[in-house]
This record gives sequence, structure tokens and C-alpha cells, in this order.
Amino acid sequence: MKPHYLTKPQFATELEKCLKCPTKPCEKACPVHCSPHDFIAAAQKDDIAQAADLIARQNPLGEVCGLICPDKFCMNACLRSHIDAPIRIPPVQAEIMRRARENNLRTPLQYAPFNGKRVAVIGLGPSGIAAVFELTKLGFKVTAFEAANTVGGALNLIPMARLPREIIAHEWQYLAQNPLVETHFKTTVADYPALLQQGFDAVIVATGEQKSRSLGITGESLTIDYTEYLKNPEKYATTGNVAVVGGGAAAVDCANTAAESGAANVEMFVRRRLSDMRITVAERYSLLQNQVNITTMTRVTMVVKSDDTLTAYTCKTQFNADGRLEDVPQSEIARGGFALIVLALGSTRAEDLQPTENIFYAGDIVTGSSTAVEALASGKQIAQEVAKRIGTERTNT
Ligand SMILES: Cc1cc2nc3c(=O)[nH]c(=O)nc-3n(C[C@H](O)[C@H](O)[C@H](O)COP(=O)(O)OP(=O)(O)OC[C@H]3O[C@@H](n4cnc5c(N)ncnc54)[C@H](O)[C@@H]3O)c2cc1C
Repeated sequence: MKPHYLTKPQFATELEKCLKCPTKPCEKACPVHCSPHDFIAAAQKDDIAQAADLIARQNPLGEVCGLICPDKFCMNACLRSHIDAPIRIPPVQAEIMRRARENNLRTPLQYAPFNGKRVAVIGLGPSGIAAVFELTKLGFKVTAFEAANTVGGALNLIPMARLPREIIAHEWQYLAQNPLVETHFKTTVADYPALLQQGFDAVIVATGEQKSRSLGITGESLTIDYTEYLKNPEKYATTGNVAVVGGGAAAVDCANTAAESGAANVEMFVRRRLSDMRITVAERYSLLQNQVNITTMTRVTMVVKSDDTLTAYTCKTQFNADGRLEDVPQSEIARGGFALIVLALGSTRAEDLQPTENIFYAGDIVTGSSTAVEALASGKQIAQEVAKRIGTERTNT
């Protein structure tokens, strides 16, 4: 897969398709209330600066979301689908933001004056970034603590071919220039109440889902976790056969990465049906393009190392009368010859939520695995809640 920018004719064709629906269903469907109706109208007038501003006012990661947003939000609401096909809104958004970035068309941010209140944001994935964006608009001084040495959180696991890292850094720079923002990388925070004692008026915890799910099967230690695999795919590149266990978006990224890194054969093991896989049309297409095999209604029960390869023991699954998945008796077989088995079962939060006065939580840590734009929406919403709770009025400065 490649970053989804449009060519000039593709861009013009998509813009022309807009029906200018007065009810703006595309805006209503966007978790951060970006208005494709309006930014497309600006782009039609060739006013890319205005189009980019309309996006950036609502979304601090406008280009990132343009590249990776699934088709289930604005595109799904686009009424053009009743005539032929919906406008490919995310790629249009990415293309507008790319042109604005490359031609330096973005209007510099207007900085709000300091309102006298200080907020700590822990974690700089999309939800933390959105919290910083919203809080600084309201004049809060924000100190952000990030365990990693860079921003983006789980976005950094998305294959580079789909999301070049410099786009995340570029969008973050817009916010980071603000004198109200102070950032501490390589800083893990565990004691949130201590920050309140240090003088912060509120703390927003936006630490995502840090604990990978496991299968709990014999031989699991012979497999590789998807976060480790996606962080260092070159370390695990192989010309052999690769198995990916799991059927979600992260599993798709692992399967495509393995195929594009030279694996002879890539096979996904999915417990449910093909139609149950919660992946987008584009993701399905990418699997076909990379000739990834999908073995559905199959559970991996054990992994064994034999000589230089791995064997996955699998059994078939079926839905019982209650609609629950169960194993098909005596269906276990051994599938040998894998050079690599990647577990991509998703993640869960690594800590319990303990919201107390002036400690707030945002993003995937609250909602479970979501999407970048939903995490952004959560960060914005929590920032507004913080503003309501602690006020934006200068008190003692
Ligand atoms: C492989 C993969 C592919 C994906 N593909 C897509 C896609 O195509 N489209 C899409 O919209 N979404 C996609 N997503 C989902 C999207 O990336 C997440 O929904 C989003 O990043 C969640 O944002 P968040 O801010 O809640 O958490 P995260 O992005 O997980 O960020 C949390 C941050 O907190 C930091 N942190 C954790 N603990 C601490 C601590 N104690 N102190 C300081 N910092 C800490 C972490 O280092 C991290 O930077 C994908 C996710 C994965 C894993």
C-alpha cells in the first residue's frame, strides 16, 4: 500500500462529485466535526489555504487522518453514493493538506493568551495531541509527558508506506511551537495525583492501550507480538512462510508488511468468518493485491518449533445455537513450515481507570481500540470538559 494522495485529475474528479447537500451529512459523520462540504467548496475555488485552514481548525492531524481514516465516517455518509460512489473524502483531505504543507500555505496559529491554569497531558498519541490542541486554544499552559521519544503513539505502528512519520512530526510542530506547550519525551508518568500536588490544575491521561492481548496457548513465546513486529519489520523480514493470527486492522498491516517484505506466502488465521472481519474495503483490497491467504473459522491452539520452522496446530471453529464460537471436535491439524508467526489480537489498557477530581482520561484507554479520528475527538471533548470543570478565568496571576 502507498500513501493515499490523489493525482491532479483524480483530485479534480473527486471535487466535482460534491452535491453540496445543505444538511452536510459528511460533517455530522465526522467525529471531530470537520466539514468536507466546506473544505471541498474552498478547494473547488482553488483556495487550498482556506480549505486547509477549515480542516486544521477542527483537526490537528488533518493530513494524518486524510491518509488513514477508514471509510466508515464521512465517506459512509456521503449522499453521492446514491448516484454512483461516495466522494473519496479522506484522500481529498490528505491531498489538500499535502498541497498546503508543500507550498507553505498554512496560516500560522493564533496563540491565545495564558489563562492562568496549567494542565498536564500524559501520552502524545492522537488523543493527547488533540487535548493539547484544544487546551492551548483556550489559553491553558500544557505540559505533555510522553514515554516514547516521539509523538504519535500507536500511529507509529502503521506501516510507513501508509503513513510516513514526517507527516505526524510536521503536524505536531504546528502545536509544539506554541509558547503555551512544554513537552517532555522519554518520560513515563505513573503517579497522576502527584502532578496535582506539583501545581497542575488538572491531569489528562491519554496513554492508549499498552498491553497486547495474548492467546494463552502452549508455544506462544515462539510467536512475535504485532507491536514488536510493526516497530521493526525489517528485523523479521523473511523469504519463508508467515502466519498472522488475528483478523483486524493491525493483523492486516502485519500480513501486508510481511508480503511486501518478501515472504513467500502469508496466511492469516481468523477465528470468525470473512464477513466478520472489521476491516475496510481498502484493507480487503490490499490483502487481495498482496495475495494474502485468509483461513477463516480457525483457531490456533499450539505452536511448536521443529528444526528451523514453526508448526501451528489449528482447529476449526463453528457458531453454536447461541451464536457463540466453539471448536469443532476432532478438527485439529498441524500446519508446519512457518518461518514466523505474528500474533495480532489487539491490545487492552494496562491500568485501571481511576478518575478522581481533576484527573481525566481520554482516547483508547477509555473507549478501547478505536481509530485516530475517534481518539482525537475524545481528546478534544475531554479538554473541553477540563475547561468547564476548572474554568478558563485567570485567578491569581
Ligand atoms: C497497527 C495499527 C494500525 C492502525 N491503523 C489505523 C488506521 O488505519 N486508521 C485509524 O484511524 N486508526 C488506526 N489505528 C488506531 C489508532 O492508531 C489508535 O486508535 C490511536 O492511536 C489511539 O490514540 P490514543 O492517543 O488514545 O493512544 P495511543 O496512540 O496508544 O497513544 C498513547 C501514548 O501514550 C504514551 N504513554 C503510555 N503510557 C505512558 C505513561 N505512563 N507516561 C507517558 N506516556 C505514556 C505512549 O507512548 C503513546 O505515545 C491503528 C492502530 C494500530 C496499532
